[in-house]
Amino acid sequence: MTRDPRYDILFTPLKIGPVTTKNRFFQVPHCTGMGYIRPRMLASMREVKAEGGWGVICTEYNSIHPSSDDLRHVSASLWNDSDIRAHRLMTDKIHAHGALAGAELWYGGARSANMMTREVALDLDSMPNSVGHPFQTRAMDKTDIRNLRRWHRKAAIRARDAGFDVVYVYATHGYLLANFLDPARNTRSDEYGGVMENRVRLVRELIEETKDAVGDKCAVAVRFAADEQVGEDGIPITGERRDMFEMLAPLPDLWDINIADYGVEMGVSRFTKEGALEPYMGFVKSITDKPVVTVGRFTSPDTMVSQLKRGVTDLIGAARPSIADPFLPAKIEAGDLGAIRECIGCNVCYSGDSLGVPIRCTQNPTMGEEWRKGWHPEKIDPKGSDTRVLVVGAGPAGMEAARALGQRGYEVMLAEATRELGGRVRREATLPGLSEYIRVKDYREQQMLKMPNVEVFRESQMSAQDVHAVEADHVVIATGAHWRKERFNGNRYVSVTPDGADAHVLTPDDIMDGRMPDGPTLVYDEDGYYLGGVIAEKLRAAGLDVTYATPADVVSQWAENTSERWRVRSHLMKLGIEIELSKSLTEFDGKTARLACEYGGTVTDLKVRTVVMVTQRKTNDTLYNDLITGAGGDRAKLPFTLSRVGDCDAPAIIAAAVYAGHRYARELDAPIDSDEPLRHDRVDVGETPEGSYLMGRT
Ligand code: ADP
Ligand code: SF4
Repeated sequence: MTRDPRYDILFTPLKIGPVTTKNRFFQVPHCTGMGYIRPRMLASMREVKAEGGWGVICTEYNSIHPSSDDLRHVSASLWNDSDIRAHRLMTDKIHAHGALAGAELWYGGARSANMMTREVALDLDSMPNSVGHPFQTRAMDKTDIRNLRRWHRKAAIRARDAGFDVVYVYATHGYLLANFLDPARNTRSDEYGGVMENRVRLVRELIEETKDAVGDKCAVAVRFAADEQVGEDGIPITGERRDMFEMLAPLPDLWDINIADYGVEMGVSRFTKEGALEPYMGFVKSITDKPVVTVGRFTSPDTMVSQLKRGVTDLIGAARPSIADPFLPAKIEAGDLGAIRECIGCNVCYSGDSLGVPIRCTQNPTMGEEWRKGWHPEKIDPKGSDTRVLVVGAGPAGMEAARALGQRGYEVMLAEATRELGGRVRREATLPGLSEYIRVKDYREQQMLKMPNVEVFRESQMSAQDVHAVEADHVVIATGAHWRKERFNGNRYVSVTPDGADAHVLTPDDIMDGRMPDGPTLVYDEDGYYLGGVIAEKLRAAGLDVTYATPADVVSQWAENTSERWRVRSHLMKLGIEIELSKSLTEFDGKTARLACEYGGTVTDLKVRTVVMVTQRKTNDTLYNDLITGAGGDRAKLPFTLSRVGDCDAPAIIAAAVYAGHRYARELDAPIDSDEPLRHDRVDVGETPEGSYLMGRT
């Protein structure tokens, strides 16, 4: 296969100031949960993208000084020379594949409370911390501004010395520089506040000083928001942004344009579709002749070409598409579009940053595991034996296990009880807003179709006897889980209906199977992720009066980590769904649902006809248990190896099921040392801890 000439434009080089990118694929800065804490993992992860054809690969936000520290969210840093060495690990690897490396310099201001360094954060005024820490900033005086400019300049020089080709001035996302630009926030009375010329002064100075510091070797990019805020129904309020942009337009070598609201810019697919920033980009290219990059969760090469040809942007910016498929450019280049692992827009990747743990991805189970497990997104060791593997269940876990085993060359049989493959993603993709989840199935199905050594058996509900009849050498059970009607009371699963009667109690499985309630309904959410809200939306769309209740203090608590919680709640409110927070469902008799307040037990009675329990799941482990029981309780007595993966092992998010299936495939005939299952990336103090500490300060 070769590249379709329609896509040639994506592979044309572009000059960006003093450097030239070989193509138009630009991995914009994105957080990874690795940053300065896990430099080896980070370097290998970015290297894989360079290998996969991205022309420019950027860091996450790079703190320029200890008074800008975001832990537990892990940033990169450019504080001292040891940071230069850490970044070198990455830039050398990126350059080895002919790509450019970019560093985004960052100062958090009122968004960083500096919980690790304990330095006082600086901002334009004594402002409250904007992400909820009870710490205010120090209002910057002239000395502070001079210091900031010096720190920025020194960080830029370090970036240059670390081998970066592009250095960013980061003026968006509510961080310090965005505040200086903002007419609503910047009420300073000196030459850095008031009229627009004054508010852009600091950004202008930093662009000029960064150019002066690195401009003959590195391009200087500016990240800038095309809007001030998102208005009603997503209509951007651009305010004076156009004039501001006009003022700064000639200064940098590259404009990286996004929007002020991160929750929309990086919106989940439920609310935000591919190319969503285009309406905001209207004025940008008409004002500057400097190269422009923007994002839009682009996975379709046709959309990318259209963006370039219509002059919306010059470079295809991507964070999530490059995470889901680090080889996206290489696959377009090779004309192998069916092999692209398209991002599903779930934002599980972002949860790594939210939780301060390494990045993971629903579609790409190797993401974050490149260094510590040696996993590559496209390459895998050949099979370790001429054996046959039976995979039972074609949900995310079973499909990924079968696909990766097939890639290794094993003879694989995938048996699925239903006609359609996909398991939970096939079912959930029918719910409001989740249609892109089907990509988890589509990618794997496409790949398996190309593998003569993988056979798929549909409508094959397997019993223990059936499994034995296959005479496989290895059997992996991936039969998933189903939603319970009970709830977990902190100690055990309990029924909410008197005497355990389950009349009018439904689960998400019932709703997905088309069994709908027919009167006022309570959706009771103990799961705390996206499904409770999605089920409530589906019932509301069917014309029902719906109340959403949860024992948590907020709607969709875990969705905070995927940056969608705020949008979920505002969406439910807009739909007219009533919300009850901090309340546990204690009883439902078919007419009244009794909710007890988590703080003191005050009871609220709701008159409803049906309750949908979105609580916990029960593993579908009958087959697994039958096989073990049949062997007298001793797995070793079976004529095949037996394993279970995914939700039938331990119910969790889709990403965990894909990962479990992949891991099974990797480790078959390649046992790992279970005492040391992965390489440990952390500061190595060497023989003399004191010496190492001093080294860190040089
Ligand atoms: P996971 O997320 O772990 O992949 P899913 O619930 O998405 O789990 O998928 C499990 C799949 O297993 C479903 O498609 C289901 O139809 C299938 N399945 C369950 N039991 C059997 C069985 N005994 N034989 C074949 N397929 C089964
Ligand atoms: Fe896309 Fe989800 Fe992967 Fe993030 S985790 S890159 S949103 S598929």
